Amino acid sequence: MLKSGLDKDLQSIAHENYQFKNWAKTFQCRPELLFTPQTEQQVVKVVELAKQSNKRIKVFGSGHSPSDLACTTDFLVNIDNMNRLLSVNQDQCTISVQAGMSLHKLHVVLKENNMALSNLGSISDQSIAGVMATASHGTGAHFGCMSTFIINLTMVTADGKIVHCSAIENPDLFMAAKCSLGCLGIVTQMTLKAEPSFRLEAIQKPYKFPEVLDNWDATIHSAEHVRVWWYPHTDDCVVWRSNRTEKPATTTIQTMTNAATTWWYERALGFHIYQGLLNMTRFQPNVIPSLTQFMFNKVHSRPVHVIDDAHKIFNFDCLFPQYVNEWAIAWDDAPAVLRKLEAYISKHNLKVHFPVEIRFVDEDDIWLSPAYGRKTCYIGVIMYRPYGNPVPYKKYWKGYEDIMRQYGGRPHWAKAHGQTQQDLRQSYPKFDNFLDVRQQVDPHGMFLNDYLERHIVDPQRKSGQILSKL
Ligand SMILES: Cc1cc2nc3c(=O)[nH]c(=O)nc-3n(C[C@H](O)[C@H](O)[C@H](O)COP(=O)(O)OP(=O)(O)OC[C@H]3O[C@@H](n4cnc5c(N)ncnc54)[C@H](O)[C@@H]3O)c2cc1C
Repeated sequence: MLKSGLDKDLQSIAHENYQFKNWAKTFQCRPELLFTPQTEQQVVKVVELAKQSNKRIKVFGSGHSPSDLACTTDFLVNIDNMNRLLSVNQDQCTISVQAGMSLHKLHVVLKENNMALSNLGSISDQSIAGVMATASHGTGAHFGCMSTFIINLTMVTADGKIVHCSAIENPDLFMAAKCSLGCLGIVTQMTLKAEPSFRLEAIQKPYKFPEVLDNWDATIHSAEHVRVWWYPHTDDCVVWRSNRTEKPATTTIQTMTNAATTWWYERALGFHIYQGLLNMTRFQPNVIPSLTQFMFNKVHSRPVHVIDDAHKIFNFDCLFPQYVNEWAIAWDDAPAVLRKLEAYISKHNLKVHFPVEIRFVDEDDIWLSPAYGRKTCYIGVIMYRPYGNPVPYKKYWKGYEDIMRQYGGRPHWAKAHGQTQQDLRQSYPKFDNFLDVRQQVDPHGMFLNDYLERHIVDPQRKSGQILSKL
């Protein structure tokens, strides 16, 4: 379809020859047209155009999903221009925003109103809609995934209607839409629960990994927010803990010498030199264990103690592009899973990158949330792509996924994984409820794409055969 054939309003938001690439540049697509609506009415017009011309729509946020979840060759839609604050209720600590707002902007808007999100993942580059569509998460035994913040939302569905939902209004749609994978419609607005703004005091220290595994429950509950980074090929790990505090921020009183030392360790050695060394290990993978031990000894075992606004403490530098895989299991099963993963890596003589990231999420009742009905431990594995170069990862992923499957694991929706509809139906008690709602609001599959066909709607795919094809 050509842009010139559209009405003036649609022409003003249509773009030809757009190539979408996700953040890690591991997935890409060329949509027929990209639309960047600025109003809900324009969103409706795009949906009506898709309906008339029998096209599919995929909406993307900031393209951070490490999979083809946000890809299509039909109409791609991005609502970054719909990023305004709509209203604030300071008594209730709630905020209503347009769903194209980035988390970065949300933090600013919340701070202006003396509020903050209760929990957050590693970055804030994502759009609010994108984060919620995949039940993205931070860490904290008593904190749910970010979709648990949603109080109500508004979406444009495949029939071009603007639909509101909450626990009271269209409750089934609401339970499905809080983690929708973008397959129910285009979410345009949300009201979120926040809390009064707060600072976090974070303390990061090295530990012996076997000791942490032996004291698992105590570790999980050792602070409000706890994460563990294990360094494969070593018995070392780092535990990061943070708690709410009234103490003043520390980062601003750093001396120049401290700042220069920190820069040297974190940016020069931890980023630039590390990337160069990792690139060399593509030709000498046997060096990876020594490089891991070196980086742990020189950079990551250094104790860190900082206090700052919550979102600055929650967020991290995720370094350079990477392949990632991350599944959710019951948190009690994590020590056994991690021991099996270590045994698999060593048995197959794999040389893998650090860290294995371990985080904790409270259970919730959102139909497709990986933390549905169980206290959850996310275990994330990573293989960096230094300077965007490929590295072998499929054997690592295969062993990792097989172990996670044995323990009833549920993959992070944003990340490429090998679960079929049959597998997912077994692990999500409300999976069929989700499919029913999807069928009702989108009977002709306007919001489907390859990812959603492969994992969600196609009952024919065989277990364990997907990942090898990605
Ligand atoms: C460096 C990095 C760090 C990360 N850290 C974490 C982390 O700490 N914790 C975690 O859980 N995840 C993490 N992620 C994953 C990330 O949070 C998810 O991939 C998230 O979905 C990305 O949001 P996005 O705005 O980029 O959405 P996209 O990747 O663009 O899209 C994701 C999904 O959202 C849907 N969507 C987007 N906008 C809308 C809309 N308006 N209406 C309906 N559906 C919509 C899309 O259709 C798609 O299905 C990380 C990813 C990267 C690359």
